[in-house]
Amino acid sequence: MTKVTVWNENRHEKKNPVVSEIYPKGIHGAIAEFLEQDNLEVRTATLDEPEHGLSEDVLNNTDVLVWWGHIAHEEVSDEVVERVRQRVLDGMGLVVLHSGHFSKIFKKLMGTSCDLKWREADEKERIWVVNPAHPIVDGVGEFFELEKEEMYGEHFDIPAPDELVLVSWFEGGEVFRSGCTYIRGNGKVFYFRPGHETYPTYYNDNVQRIITNAVNWAKPIDRARPVYGNAKPLEEIGN
Ligand code: ZN
Repeated sequence: MTKVTVWNENRHEKKNPVVSEIYPKGIHGAIAEFLEQDNLEVRTATLDEPEHGLSEDVLNNTDVLVWWGHIAHEEVSDEVVERVRQRVLDGMGLVVLHSGHFSKIFKKLMGTSCDLKWREADEKERIWVVNPAHPIVDGVGEFFELEKEEMYGEHFDIPAPDELVLVSWFEGGEVFRSGCTYIRGNGKVFYFRPGHETYPTYYNDNVQRIITNAVNWAKPIDRARPVYGNAKPLEEIGN
């Protein structure tokens, strides 16, 4: 059974009653709830736990890590970020959600600023599937809409994705690369845009389906990291 850890900084939920009303069990709780229905073994971890809930033991027992953070990226210790990065290189999947674009782990894996345009104006988002054969959009129609979301607009300063799966259009006119895949070492990474904390986005059927598909796509295959460095020849050279 695939082991999933849903990580959330869990700060908006403590400070903003609008958020705690939408997500009484936290954003991590809402995400864990729908992932559990897909025969996945799910646990949650939050920033204020010791080692942010991401000890060596937890990470070694995680196939796919889901990440939601926003106002406390800088409070995540560099040691834990490096630990997560090593696990990704070893093959652990990573699904980065919404404002996680500015998390230390995503920026470190991308190597760019990961900056973007944004606006909070209760506007409609229409999310288009631009890679219809991709397993992450299995069961999702040509497009779907979120009635109210925060706007994220291009330019999004990321490396060109290995695969672009989803593109968003916003009522105000901007577009955004909303679903992007990357491979880093043996690990698969998926960035998925929607999920501003003051909207019930993580209850949307299509959003839930995409995150669930992404977790299943990102789980590791059974392969050790390649061997690097000086290598003995496989055959005698120069005879
Ligand atoms: Zn947001």
